[in-house]
Amino acid sequence: MSGSIFVGLLQNTAILLAFGLLYDNLWINRLEHPNLRIKIISGVLIGTIGIVLMLTPWTMIPGIVFDTRSVMLSIAGLFFGAIPTVVAMIMDIAFRAIIGGGGQLMGMVVILLSGTTGILWRLYRPHWMKGNRNLELLLLGITVHALMLASTVLLPSELKMGIFEAILIPMVLVYIPAELLLGRLLVSQYENWKTRLAREELLKSEQRLISDLVKAKEKAEESDRLKSAFLANLSHEIHTPMNGILGFAEILQNPNINGDEMKEYLGVIRESGTRMLDIIHDLIAVSKLETGQVNIRAASVNVNAILDEIYNRYSSPSEIKGLQLIVRKNLSDKECTITSDKEKIHSALSNLVKNAIKYSNEGVIEFGYVKKGRYLEFFVKDQGIGIPADKQAAIFDRFVQVNTSISTANAGTGLGLSITKAYAKLLGGAVSVTSEEGKGSTFYFTVPAWSAS
Ligand code: ADP
Repeated sequence: MSGSIFVGLLQNTAILLAFGLLYDNLWINRLEHPNLRIKIISGVLIGTIGIVLMLTPWTMIPGIVFDTRSVMLSIAGLFFGAIPTVVAMIMDIAFRAIIGGGGQLMGMVVILLSGTTGILWRLYRPHWMKGNRNLELLLLGITVHALMLASTVLLPSELKMGIFEAILIPMVLVYIPAELLLGRLLVSQYENWKTRLAREELLKSEQRLISDLVKAKEKAEESDRLKSAFLANLSHEIHTPMNGILGFAEILQNPNINGDEMKEYLGVIRESGTRMLDIIHDLIAVSKLETGQVNIRAASVNVNAILDEIYNRYSSPSEIKGLQLIVRKNLSDKECTITSDKEKIHSALSNLVKNAIKYSNEGVIEFGYVKKGRYLEFFVKDQGIGIPADKQAAIFDRFVQVNTSISTANAGTGLGLSITKAYAKLLGGAVSVTSEEGKGSTFYFTVPAWSAS
């Protein structure tokens, strides 16, 4: 090989390395979703590199030039696919046509055959990288350059034999190894990218895992805290009526108490008993809900009758604490008969009325229902202490209380609203609240009351 061939080869190697950089920087990061714009830009860049290769050839005889465009275009077809390679081929064929000379036709055909072979290889051997890559690249190199050798038939007849013999050795010693080396370079870039991606994915899933763990830990701590507060409240809630019952029962043993006193003390015992019963009901309801043992028993329900029962229970002076209780019945007794579960509606509404009384110091409490399409919407409106906006969603969860201090007169178990919510949901409705701190709250729950027709 002459000195000029050596210099030409070196230049070609440098240009092929530039092609390798193009794959790494422009293409590989978009490999997942390369859009048409990127495909065309890549094609133009590959075509330009092909032109630069053609501008730095080694000349065998004037008009017959050789360069490594066959290596680059076949590798482009294999790694970049059809669109970029076709764009590059069009540019390079046009440029080769402009150069002219005796090798014009062969040069143009070699461009076409090299790029197409790469594209077809990619198409018909999509998993080539998973097998023996060196062998695949070698076979591709041999195929492309065998086609190149065959293309010498397109040379002017007086040159054919001489050129064929002249390029046979560089083909085996330079072109085919160059194909293998350039292919290996791009494979390793591809693999580096895959490793980088895998590492990033790993890092992301590690971060996700950590944040999930932190959330789970916070949730566990929160529910632990809620359960401790619940147990403390429960103990308080049971002790208070129990002390009332036992204390007044003892006083009643005194034979000297008069009839009025006896009536008053029995009233306290009855009230304390009812309070105990309420707590026991709540506990049973929650454990049944928890274990999925609650069934809906649908029957004909007179909603006005439920309202009357609740009114009678809570309007007694001992229950209502000087507040005013107003009941609003919006439908006649005939119209307000629906098919639903009376016990669940009674319980859900009682919890809301009980809360309205518990969390109000003065004012009016209004409760009732309105017809909304095929739903009945029950409401309980108070002028009590209200609920901060950031707590309004959480209070429907079990054990959640706005003020968890059991020293307040308002201490409860934190179960009532969760029961109301669960019952409304079981019946096919939902709960909601609007509230303003210091001004009062209105709780709502809906139940489907009439069929859709
Ligand atoms: P409990 O009343 O036993 O604490 P609930 O589940 O019935 O449990 O209510 C949860 C919390 O919601 C209460 O602790 C209270 O802070 C708040 N809350 C419920 N109803 C009202 C209301 N009408 N006005 C103000 N706060 C309320």
